[in-house]
This record gives sequence, structure tokens and C-alpha cells, in this order.
Amino acid sequence: MQKIEGKSLAQGAVIGKLRFYREAEYDIDEGDYDDSDTEIARFEQAMEAVKNHKFALAEAAEANSDNTGAMVFVSHVALLEDRGLIARVEGYIREMRKCAEFGVKVGFNDVADDIRNLPDPYIMRRSDDILELEREVLEELMGATQGISFGRDPYILAANDLTASDVARIDRKHVLAIVLKGGSINNHASILAKGLGIPCVIRAESLSYASDGKEVIVDGTNGIVVLEPDADTVRKYDEVMKENKAFTDSLMRLKGKMTVTRDGQEVRLYANISGPHDVSTVLENDASGIGLFRSDYLFLKDRDYPSEQEQYLSYRKVVEEMNPRSVIIRTVDIGSDKNVPYLHLDKEENPALGMRAIRISLTRHDFFKTQLRAMLRASAFGNLRIIFPMITSVSELRECRDVLNECEEELKREHVAVGSYKVGVMIETPASVLIADQLAEEADFLSVGTNDLTQFTLALDRQNPNLDRFFDPHHPAVIEAIRMTVEAGHRHGCLVAICGELAGDTSLTETFMRMGVDALSVNPQFVLPLRQRIRELDLRQS
Ligand code: PEP
Ligand code: MG
Repeated sequence: MQKIEGKSLAQGAVIGKLRFYREAEYDIDEGDYDDSDTEIARFEQAMEAVKNHKFALAEAAEANSDNTGAMVFVSHVALLEDRGLIARVEGYIREMRKCAEFGVKVGFNDVADDIRNLPDPYIMRRSDDILELEREVLEELMGATQGISFGRDPYILAANDLTASDVARIDRKHVLAIVLKGGSINNHASILAKGLGIPCVIRAESLSYASDGKEVIVDGTNGIVVLEPDADTVRKYDEVMKENKAFTDSLMRLKGKMTVTRDGQEVRLYANISGPHDVSTVLENDASGIGLFRSDYLFLKDRDYPSEQEQYLSYRKVVEEMNPRSVIIRTVDIGSDKNVPYLHLDKEENPALGMRAIRISLTRHDFFKTQLRAMLRASAFGNLRIIFPMITSVSELRECRDVLNECEEELKREHVAVGSYKVGVMIETPASVLIADQLAEEADFLSVGTNDLTQFTLALDRQNPNLDRFFDPHHPAVIEAIRMTVEAGHRHGCLVAICGELAGDTSLTETFMRMGVDALSVNPQFVLPLRQRIRELDLRQS
């Protein structure tokens, strides 16, 4: 038995088999293959499939006015058609009598090495493209899936680290818990992981790949992982798990009850979700609506832009299943730590301050319009609200509204039904707090994103794990910024919600209730504990 100390990310305990995820490493047969014709044909087919995929991506990028992206995909096709590269791979297959996978692995690497040694820095950079393409051709040949999955038996997912896109690709039906060697409390990967409602431990630094396949206990509440636990420890955790279950079951009595303090102050209790898969948990936990649907998930999970139809179906499903409860969908907030390769965003020195969120939407109108059209179409099926992230000026809000109106008019001309909807602004920068009065005059509601608001108020990178001890959402400046927003919103008849992680921090619930916050939006599994906390409060007592 070995006890590994990490940090708690999400509470709960579980026992299961650990599977250590590593970025695909291909086990390639190095033996001799006599049937070179078959191997060459397999190679050609895989190349064709990757090229077709690239053409489709180039078309999608062009349709989204992403000319840089389209050019990159076309240049990938040119690389795949390079006679020298093809000859190198075919040489390994025919002359050395190797399989197609071997030819691709070694041939692509040879060419990447040659290029890397050239004096021209522009051409040198193409060696990374060649390696990216090598991976895609191998995936095609070996049928690797894009998802992170270890089969159908439930397992505990371990990894060195996960990106937000990785979390979006987790096979959530079978994962019991997550353990990371690295990780940071406040980055988007962690926030998405918390939304899975399973125990999570990060910074379990002494975890290693050698633990793959072993039985482990993950104690998310205390940030501990126990490798190969002895019988006593298993018994102890069986008890803990029983107690946790009894606590969760006891909360069920609060379903259907009001979220109101003893002295009668009510607050709306909403849930945060990342996609339609979360709605059943939201309903099970009796949230009064969805306070933040992070639509980013739809953009992170695949290798390609989600189409208007795909987005519409997802939004409609959520809106329809929640009806008549309200659903706030946030327009895409990618960039920064949410990297979407097909968008071909430039590498930036300060990506959290860079081309992200609404700045991407306002720079690529077609991309933005695709999402807004999908949302407006979904509005006909329930109670929809649209919220814009990272707004820093009134003119940005106006521009968003203009594009929204343009989409609505287009849809009306096409005789497509659009329902009624409201428009809100995320308050997550000091700028938006300072102009909250003006924003509230033009918006229907405000919602405070405390994760980014903390980052930007304290000038502190939320992704940097070394700064975790300085990341203080309880800082008086953050609390004051929330108070200013609530007061400004109320001066203009605007509802003010909190949808960042702080909304679920029960040590601040009383403070928020005293401020008069209208809604708190938290992970679905926090809804009932928070309702319990609010029902215990009596604001008449000082
Ligand atoms: C926030 O910043 O608090 C927020 C809700 O948005 P995200 O965590 O997705 O950046
Ligand atoms: Mg944010």
C-alpha cells in the first residue's frame, strides 16, 4: 500500500482500477512484411483519408472567414502530396519490407529531421506540421479514436495532466474519478472536470505510469490517492463511501423545496453545465434553471467546427428538456487555455489577455453568426437567455446585439421560428465592473464570472499552479467588485447572478445573500447542499 498526497479538486471517495492515460504512443510492428502491395495500398488509403479531412476543414474554415486556417489546411494537403515524403515511406515499405505504420513512422520522422536542419526558419517550422500529419496518418491506419477511453469497465482515470479539450473527450460513462500528477485548481480543465461530479485529485506528484492497472482509492475530499490499499483501509473507505451516499440521499428531501433563508429572502439556484449530457443531473438535483451553459465544450470535443445544425440540436435539447426553466447559454469562450487547433489562433505571449472569447466572435462574424443562429433557432423551444463572455465595453455589447439582430432578421426571412429571449453580460473583468451601470442599462441581466474576475482583479494567472496560494477569490477587492456589480445591476432593474466557482463557496453564501444577489449558479451536485445552507441562514441575525 502506498499513500500519495495531492490536492483536492472535487470531493467524494471511490475505489477502482487505475488506468494511466498517455498521449497515444503507437506500438508498431517492426517485423518483415512480404506483401508490400497491400501495405502500399493501406498507406495510400490513409493518406487519402487525411487529405479529404483536411479539404473539409479548409472548406469549413473558409466558410467561417478563417482564411489563415484555410491556408494552413491546404498547406497540409501539399505536404501530404510531397513526392519526396511519399517516396521515403514507400522505400521503407518496399525495400525494407516493413508495414505501412512503420513506413509512416520512420519516413515522416526522417523528413521532419531533414527539414529541421535547414537554415530557413520558416521551412524549419514545417517539421512540426509533418509530425502532426504523421500522427493523423497513423491514427487513420491504426484506427485510434480521438476519445480518452479504456473500455467499458469502470475505471479511475490518471494522467500527467489534461487539457480542457481532453476533459471534453473523456468517456464520462465509465470514469469513476480523476487523478492528475499536475493540474491547477482554477484552469478550465479543472472546472470542466469538477462538472463531471466525480472525485478528483490533482498534484499527486509521486503518481507514476507504473500504477497503471492497480487498484486504488481516490479520496477527493482530502486530496489523497491510496495505491493497492490493504483490507483495513478498504473497510475504512467503504464506510466513508456509505456516509457520503447517506448524506447525498438525505439532501434529496430538499427537492421541490424553496431556496429561501429563514427570514424569507429567496434566491434562484441554477446549475452550470457543459452540454446536453448534464441536463439529467441538473433535473435530479432540482436546479431552477441553467445559469451557465459553457458552449465551449461543443467546440473542444471534436477536431472540427461544430455546424449550425449540430449546435442547434444541442442547444435545443437543453432548452427543451429544461422548459419552462430558463437556460443561459454562453457564446463561445475559447482561446487562452482552451485551445482549438482548427481555429488556428496565433501563439500569444499572454493568451489570457489575448484573442479569446468575445474577441474571437467579434473578429470572425461568420463563426459568431453560426452560433447565434443555432441559439436563436433553439429559442423557439423553451426559455433561452444568451450571455456574452469577457465583455469590457458597451460598444462590444452593442456589436453583439447588432450581430444577433442580423441573425434574427435572417432567420425571419427564411421563415424559421425564433422565440423570445434575453441578453446578458458576463462580468469577469475589472473594466466590466467599473462600467456595470452602463452595461446594466443595455442588458437584461448580468452574471459575475468570479474565476476570471479574480484572475484579472488580482493580476494573477489562474492557470499557473505555482500561483494557487496567491489566487484568493475571497480577496476584499473581488468581494467589493461583486457588490458594486449587484448594486449597479439593481439600479437599472437588472438581475445579477454569480456563476463562477465562488457561487458554490458556502463560506460566502451569507455575504452574497446580504448583498442581494439574485441567483447563484453552481455545479449540479452543489445545488442541494447550497439550498440546505441557504435554508439554515437567518439574515436578521447580525
Ligand atoms: C468565470 O470566469 O468565472 C466563468 C464562469 O467562466 P469560465 O470559468 O468558464 O472562464
Ligand atoms: Mg470566465
